[in-house]
Amino acid sequence: MTKRGGRGTGLGTTTSLEAAITAAAELLVRARDVTLLAHVNPDADSLGSALALGIALRRHGATVRVSFASPARVPETLVPLDVLGLVVGPEQVPAAPELLVLCDAAEPSRLGALANRLDCAEASLMIDHHTTNPGYGGVQVLDPDAEATVVLVHRVLVAMGEPIDADIARCLYAGLVTDTRGFRTAGEAAHRIAADLLAAGVEAEAVARPIMDTHPYGWLATLGEVLQRVELEPEAGDGFGLVHASVPLEDVSRFRPEEVDSIVDVLRTVAEAEVAAVLKQVGQRRWVTSLRSKGRVDVAKVAALLGGGGHRAAAGFTYDGTKGDVLAALRSALSALDAVERLA
Ligand code: 5GP
Ligand code: MN
Repeated sequence: MTKRGGRGTGLGTTTSLEAAITAAAELLVRARDVTLLAHVNPDADSLGSALALGIALRRHGATVRVSFASPARVPETLVPLDVLGLVVGPEQVPAAPELLVLCDAAEPSRLGALANRLDCAEASLMIDHHTTNPGYGGVQVLDPDAEATVVLVHRVLVAMGEPIDADIARCLYAGLVTDTRGFRTAGEAAHRIAADLLAAGVEAEAVARPIMDTHPYGWLATLGEVLQRVELEPEAGDGFGLVHASVPLEDVSRFRPEEVDSIVDVLRTVAEAEVAAVLKQVGQRRWVTSLRSKGRVDVAKVAALLGGGGHRAAAGFTYDGTKGDVLAALRSALSALDAVERLA
C-alpha cells in the first residue's frame, strides 16, 4: 500500500498500518480540539466511525464536533448514535480546524464542500478502507482489507487505551453490521470485535433493524414501480451481465436515503447478472449510481473509470447527463475493463 502524506503533522510518511495506528492514537490522545468529518450522504460506517471517536474524545475533555457537507440533516436512522449531540452543520466547522479527522471518505471529494478544510487544517488524520483511496491527509490509517472503517477506529481506540463503553460500541457495531451486510463479509477478527461490542452492551437487533430492515408502508408501492422498470442486459460487461433500475428525482426526494439505497440490495439478488446498478436522480441532469458485484467484476475499477470509487463488490459514482448517457457510460466502462481485472 502506498502512503502519501505528511501534511502538517510533523509525523512524516507512515510506513505500515501499525505505525499509522500508533501515530493516530498519539495525535488523538494529545488533541484538545477535534473536528471529525463523515463523507457526503453519510452511512453508518462513516458517521459511526466519527461518532465513536468523537464520544471517546469528548469524554477526555476535548472540544469535539462531528459534521458532513450534505444533506442538511443526519439520516433519521443514525440519529440515535449521536448520544452526546456532537453533530453540527457544515457552517459550524472551523475554517482552519486544529485537528481534522476524515472517516470512511475514499477521496477528498467525498467530503463535498468541506474538502477545502484539508488544506487549512493544522493537522489531519484519514481513516478509511476503500481500495480506490489514493492516500491523503497527514496521518493515514488506510487498510483496504478492513471490512469497515469502524474496524480501524476500534484499533485506534484500543491503541489510545480508551475503554469502549456501550455508546461507543453501538456506533462501531452499526458500521460493522452494515458494511459487512450482516457479517457475511466479516472475517474472524471482525467477528471477535463484534463479540466485544456485544459484551460492552450492544443489543444487536435494536441497532441493526432500524438501519437495515425498516421502511414505511408507503415505500412498498414505489419499490414495486421501480422493480417493474428493472432491465437485465445479459450481454453487458462481456457477458457477465448487468441488471439496472433508476429512481426519478421525485421519488428520491420523497423518501429517505434508507429506502432509496436499499433498492440495490434487491437488484443484486438477480442470478443472471454479475453487476447490479441503481441510478438515483439527484438533479435534472445528475445521477448518483450505486454499483454492486457478486465478486467477479471489480466495480471499484468500473466506478473509478466514471469518476467514482469504492470497493471490489460495492462502489459508486456521480454522472451528469440523461439516464441514457449514464447507462451508455456504464456499459462502456464495464466493457473497457481488462479481463485481467476480473477473477475467473
Ligand atoms: P453506495 O452505493 O452504498 O452509496 O456506495 C458503495 C461504496 O462506494 C461505498 O463504500 C461508498 O463509500 C463508495 N462510493 C460511492 N460513491 C462514490 C464516489 O463517488 N466516489 C468514491 N470514491 N467512492 C464512492
Ligand atoms: Mn465503509
